[in-house]
Amino acid sequence: MNLVFLGPPGSGKGTQASILSRKFLIPQISTGDMLRSEVEACSDLGAKVSLVLQSGGLVDDDIVFKILLKRIKKNDCSKGFILDGFPRSLSQAVLLDEVLEKEAKKLSLIFNFEINQREILQRLLGRFSCKECKAVYNKFFSKTKLDGVCDFCGSKVFDYRTDDDESIIRNRLRIYEESIGALVDFYKKRNGLLVSIDAASSKELLSEELIKIITTKL
Ligand code: AMP
Repeated sequence: MNLVFLGPPGSGKGTQASILSRKFLIPQISTGDMLRSEVEACSDLGAKVSLVLQSGGLVDDDIVFKILLKRIKKNDCSKGFILDGFPRSLSQAVLLDEVLEKEAKKLSLIFNFEINQREILQRLLGRFSCKECKAVYNKFFSKTKLDGVCDFCGSKVFDYRTDDDESIIRNRLRIYEESIGALVDFYKKRNGLLVSIDAASSKELLSEELIKIITTKL
């Protein structure tokens, strides 16, 4: 089961990918997480991409593709994977097709998360996550039950993404808007593979819907 999640930042792709990854026991592959880890580890690659990440721009295809390729080849992807944040452009979709063909894999479903910009801004400006278990919260509408303590692992250390800043968010959204049309057109040509979903509904309802679609179609 090889899934792709398309959608703007803040549409819940990462949260849903994490829920579905646990449900179907296939890895969530987030290119954004992998790039952020490189920056945190102060690797050579991290140094190269750090400024791009901070500006909300897109990292060069060859860099992202290299880390994706390495990840997809790992054993835990043999039963499938969820791509969260890749492809982000038509050129990346073409590269993905090439690598899947080489690995004798096919895409099973592509979900397009649709949500309006006002909702996205509220979600991203309030977003924070547990540094330990990565559980995601929102200071406006989904706080921890106990102030400053993670509901799931009890950690008291939280992360705010530095690119969740209003001007950077607007840049990320602009870049998303520039490329999503071509990506949707590209995947629309694959019979029945592309499914649009209303990502404004609650986390629970959205995961129920995704699971229903997956189990019905696959
Ligand atoms: P995300 O966690 O998906 O919001 O990604 C965070 C940042 O990582 C983006 O704003 C980009 O700078 C970079 N990034 C993630 N995925 C890609 C990709 N497929 N292509 C280029 N840059 C990416």
